[in-house]
Amino acid sequence: MDLGLCFDLDGTLGRYAGDFRAFAGLLRGQLMLQACDMNRFYDLLSVELRRDGPVTLERGLAAVLERLDQRVPADLPALAAEAVEAYAEDVRPLPGARELLERLDAAGVPMALLTNGPEDMQRAALAALGFRRCFRVVLVSGDRDVAARKPAPRIFALACTGLQSLPERTVMIGDSPEADVRGALDYGLQAVLVGDAGRAGALGVPAVAGMAELDALLRTRYGV
Ligand SMILES: [Mg+2]
Repeated sequence: MDLGLCFDLDGTLGRYAGDFRAFAGLLRGQLMLQACDMNRFYDLLSVELRRDGPVTLERGLAAVLERLDQRVPADLPALAAEAVEAYAEDVRPLPGARELLERLDAAGVPMALLTNGPEDMQRAALAALGFRRCFRVVLVSGDRDVAARKPAPRIFALACTGLQSLPERTVMIGDSPEADVRGALDYGLQAVLVGDAGRAGALGVPAVAGMAELDALLRTRYGV
């Protein structure tokens, strides 16, 4: 069976270049929640956007409003859709990500994207980056059909099924030692940590500083 590759999105292939606190502040203003302390609003929203199960920005905002005993405005879907678009506009590819994905795609390497976050925001970010077509499988934790956050085994199982690769012939690449590396290893995948070599050493996996180093590692160690 062929080798399959799984990639994390945030901090691995791309990053949000905006200020998420300012983004939240804007939403707070649009929802007329000036009476709600900014820290409290930010904390509530952060919790809602990191929930298990189906998550979208709209659903998260509705949950925050309910927590604050506020009515959900009729224009919430439009407001959330606009915010998702604004968020995606500020997502940038990390150096070398596009080149590496395009090389691997051209070589026919089956790839999956595994990302934790709200379904609408993560899909918009992926579309803005232009990486969607490189992936055979896209698994967003907030998608109702996925409804599992890394390091949960379910999301790695879905990836292997989608890639038609055996776990031991599948490599997860990501910047989170816990969600990406530990989760992958626990399900029997191989893993590469993007980041701290010390943390990677403790987990018994290779580390790369960025996409150029990953490219070299994939060629030498995995022959792709
Ligand atoms: Mg990440």
